[in-house]
Amino acid sequence: EKKVLASSAKDLSPSYDWFQTDSLITIVIYTKQKDMNADLVIVDCQDKQLRGEIIMDDYSYLIEVDLDHAVSEDVAVNIAEKVGKVEIILNKKDKVHWKMLGQPCEGHNTFIKRTDRGLFYRKCKLISKTEVTHDTKLFCLMLPKGTHLRVPTGQHVYLKHIIAGTEVVKPYTPVLPFLPLDFQEPPCHDGVHIYLMIKIYSHGLFTQALDHLHIGDYISVSNPEGNFKKSQVQTSEDLLLLAGGTGFTPMVKLLNFALSEVSCLRTVKLIFFNKTEHDILWRNQLEQLALKDERFEVQFVLSQPSKDWVGKQGKISLSLLSEFVKRARRDSKVLICICGPVPFTEQGVQYLKDLGYSQEEIHAFTA
Ligand code: FAD
Ligand code: NAD
Repeated sequence: EKKVLASSAKDLSPSYDWFQTDSLITIVIYTKQKDMNADLVIVDCQDKQLRGEIIMDDYSYLIEVDLDHAVSEDVAVNIAEKVGKVEIILNKKDKVHWKMLGQPCEGHNTFIKRTDRGLFYRKCKLISKTEVTHDTKLFCLMLPKGTHLRVPTGQHVYLKHIIAGTEVVKPYTPVLPFLPLDFQEPPCHDGVHIYLMIKIYSHGLFTQALDHLHIGDYISVSNPEGNFKKSQVQTSEDLLLLAGGTGFTPMVKLLNFALSEVSCLRTVKLIFFNKTEHDILWRNQLEQLALKDERFEVQFVLSQPSKDWVGKQGKISLSLLSEFVKRARRDSKVLICICGPVPFTEQGVQYLKDLGYSQEEIHAFTA
């Protein structure tokens, strides 16, 4: 009988090499993974510090060196998706011959569990702040020139700021600058700006500090995190989104991804729970989208409506969900995503289970 040896993480570890010309330094990382893409490569190059992280499922491979000589701020990242090769190309500041790539830092050339890799932050510039509702704003942040980072659909980042001498960290879910109405082409992310839709709480520790930032100020932004996988949507025919307040934020990229890139998708229904009409985020855009795309439907439910609200009212409940959450066909492939205040999400998941939906058909966005 042949002995089958389980391959250790070490065998699967990417490896790297580097070479130079008069003006360029090229670092080549062989990931040995066939389905590499730009969402999985995070590069930061500032002064003489280079950090390149490759995300491979639950693992992270890191290149981290204190470079031998100075490089300019422009960094190019090329990914050969099918062969899993990643190139990081740096421009030498001076046309000198490098004897080595640089001094390796602590985590250099390691392949470890993602959860064991500390979050890395870079300082981003606040470009604009625009009003979405009476208490919610869209913040546009700009990544530094030497950073290559894209936040995947369904993932969040952490913002870090020092408030009254203490470091405070809170998670936020990037959105798009607006809801595209035309889904013919996959949206082009410029790769430079990160948009965050943030509700400012009158006594909120972090959001008060954020609201007091000036245009041009800097704030630290982490690498993306989150357990949502695009593949969950890729095969779904009916997508149902249940959002409470700013729990709408993960739904933005999800909606856009589903409507533009999921070929088997038949319907997307958003049930959006808010206190009052004034609290509804991007109501106009959502209504426009519903008119434009017959696959999309939106339903607003208010928990504290004014007298003249003719729409649905109440909080998330079994009767409300049994009315709205229905399989188009008995064998439809359904995905239900839910996000909002913790009790909203917890109750929602329980009701969905009571209605006979399986764990695999439900994705709850949580910390
Ligand atoms: P805090 O100081 O924490 O307080 C918030 C408000 O709630 C205040 O009015 C406070 O008085 C009150 N409060 C505090 N604790 C309680 C309590 N236990 N019970 C009742 N009331 C309480 N928010 C967004 O706006 N946009 C996003 O995209 C977004 N994405 C997120 C992604 C994830 C994964 C998670 C977990 C949260 C996300 N949040 C998002 C929420 C965000 O992280 C912060 O919690 C939020 O901005 C409030 O922070 P704060 O420090 O200003 O408020
Ligand atoms: P909110 O207080 O304005 O409430 C919005 C709606 O949620 C209400 O109208 C109601 O229908 C429902 N709701 C609120 N509290 C409820 C409760 N106790 N039980 C049942 N339903 C309830 O909401 P907000 O201030 O915009 O807060 C949004 C929440 O979403 C925050 O707690 C935030 O942390 C969370 N959030 C989480 C993620 C994530 O985990 N990925 C992302 C974004 C936002």
